[in-house]
Amino acid sequence: MRNADIVARDLKSVWHPCTQMKDHESLPLIPIKRGEGVWLEDFENNRYIDAVSSWWVNLFGHANPRINGAIRDQIEQLEHVILAGFSHEPVVNLSERLIEITPEGLSKCFYADNGSSAIEAALKMSYHYWKNHGKPAKKNFVNLSNSYHGETLGALALGDVALYKDTYQPLLMEVITAPSPDAYNREPGESEEDYALRQFEAMERILAEQHDEICAVIVEPLIQCAGSMRMHHPIYHTRLREACTRYGVHLIADEIAVGFGRTGTMFACEQAGITPDFMCLSKGLTAGYLPLSVVLTTDNVYQAFYDDYETLRAFLHSHSYTGNAIGCAVALATLDIFRDDHVIDSNRALSACMGESVAHLVDHPNVGDIRQCGMTLAIEMVKDKASKTPFPWQERRGLKVYRHSLTRQALLRPLGNVIYFMPPYVITEEQIRHLAQVATEGIEIAIKD
Ligand SMILES: *Cc1c(COP(=O)(O)O)cnc(C)c1O
Repeated sequence: MRNADIVARDLKSVWHPCTQMKDHESLPLIPIKRGEGVWLEDFENNRYIDAVSSWWVNLFGHANPRINGAIRDQIEQLEHVILAGFSHEPVVNLSERLIEITPEGLSKCFYADNGSSAIEAALKMSYHYWKNHGKPAKKNFVNLSNSYHGETLGALALGDVALYKDTYQPLLMEVITAPSPDAYNREPGESEEDYALRQFEAMERILAEQHDEICAVIVEPLIQCAGSMRMHHPIYHTRLREACTRYGVHLIADEIAVGFGRTGTMFACEQAGITPDFMCLSKGLTAGYLPLSVVLTTDNVYQAFYDDYETLRAFLHSHSYTGNAIGCAVALATLDIFRDDHVIDSNRALSACMGESVAHLVDHPNVGDIRQCGMTLAIEMVKDKASKTPFPWQERRGLKVYRHSLTRQALLRPLGNVIYFMPPYVITEEQIRHLAQVATEGIEIAIKD
């Protein structure tokens, strides 16, 4: 079978995510036959380094033997069971392990099956907590500008990326948006920390004035991934935690993308030294294998729902595949790899290599910014460096880098004009240098005319 055979059939029956399908009249759709480690291989034996971890999910490569083994063992025992009224060993083990490795004070795990669903559960839990405490007026949420929390209507309402949100605005609940601490927007000479503190003043004012009507603030700590991989200083979240406690408002940390080592620590909250009231995890939770997500919360939140059935204070929320046993077994295998291979420590060398590999681009006239946080690195192409004037989005310059990368054994899927590396942790330094070379060539092609 050739690529073209399967592509022709695909385009007759499959509607792809986040895609203008008409693009595929000219942009090749790539059918993948097999994966191994960082490599994806199509039906004509072309190979691609999965530099974006298949949308930020893959941690330890494709067809990882240890994770494959865990799946085989689990399916021989139990594939799935209803989690209401029943339990199973993988979900108990996973909950204990997650509580152990996440910030102190998170002590209960509520499962769902994708990131957006975890966000929805956290939003409902926060609102319901205040209602159970006799404060039904607390029904608003605060988000940050340029944030992203998923595509279902509640999660979409909490996001602030116009491309995904604007069309559906009439369907969405209103939210209060505070300005992001995104360090890209700081003044020349201003430190990232000073900028984060300055941006926090607006958040403090919102909380001071409206806390009686606010359930929670939701943030993506350290990296706004879908928001063009913009990054900020952790001090913002240290201050936010203090303020949320002071004003009686929950803090929801959406670590769906940044959790599991992407920022250099296991969880981004560690760098701010905080415990949120809710922490949402997905993506890396199963190392890119299966859909699973979890909301971790505190005993304080849990107790607000714990009462006689007739009080109707319980959290009557569920998904069919909640706490799927195979998903939990994969998550456990993932945590074993982190522990046994000292992944967070050994990633430091890879992260340093990523930074060095693109250092030659710092002075490039069309590179407005190179930013890095742990295992995530982004290069922002601009039309004019001094003023940071972006290329018009309609020119789709990033797409040119993507097209070039496919001819050079790499999958560098851009976010607008931002090229980024968020690779599986099994990548080698040589492969990182190859990605940097391909990105450099791609940028030269993309900035022409
Ligand atoms: C991907 C993502 C989500 C949504 O997760 P899905 O599994 O795609 O629904 C939510 N928040 C952040 C920060 C994400 O990156």
